[in-house]
Amino acid sequence: MELFVLDDIEAKIDVDKLSRELRVEKGGAEFADKFGRLVEEALSTARPKAVYKPVDFDKEGDDRVVIDGITLKSRVLSVNLADVHRVFPFVGTCGRELEDWSKTKEDMLEQFWAESIMDSVLLSAMAHMGEHIVKKFSLGKTAVMTPGSLADWPIQEQKPLFTILGNIEESIGVRLKESFMMDPRQSVSGILFPTEISFESCQLCPRERCPKRRAPYDSELYEKRFQAK
Ligand code: SF4
Repeated sequence: MELFVLDDIEAKIDVDKLSRELRVEKGGAEFADKFGRLVEEALSTARPKAVYKPVDFDKEGDDRVVIDGITLKSRVLSVNLADVHRVFPFVGTCGRELEDWSKTKEDMLEQFWAESIMDSVLLSAMAHMGEHIVKKFSLGKTAVMTPGSLADWPIQEQKPLFTILGNIEESIGVRLKESFMMDPRQSVSGILFPTEISFESCQLCPRERCPKRRAPYDSELYEKRFQAK
């Protein structure tokens, strides 16, 4: 099926929210100015991008999903796709331009802020991609699963996901390293799917004090919804 490349995404940063999270105001007006200049630089440099592919899939057993002959092994993914016919594997990135810009920062505080700025740009790119898919394919509620967020779908599963999407380095400049980390670092891969039931991987993840948690941990959810009977 057709590959969609979104390479003209507008970089967005919620400056007030980010400066609150980073407690920029604690450093006074000087820090606020410095942070403001950094955000402006980032916004004029950033070229976030995403690629996705609408695909049909087959089920194999109760813990495998097969897309274009490539197998993804995850019980949670398989259960989440029980009533779904089409899914959207994707890779999104803050973009190499912003990654290269961040490497020019020598000041430790600026390096720290630049990491958070890149996270924000990536998040906004993912929101843009989600809205684009929902509109284009007239979807209702959707959810996302990403390899590496749960033991059930480990980070190594990025390899088959990248294979499904073809040459990601050529389309949006993201390279999957042998360590299964992505380059640029602020990139994310996963599958977006339509769903009636809200789902966040965080519901199955017991990690404490995760700054990126999007939903509370539910210690009974796996047994109730995902365990093989
Ligand atoms: S709680 Fe944190 S580590 Fe766990 S799935 Fe959510 S974002 Fe990932």
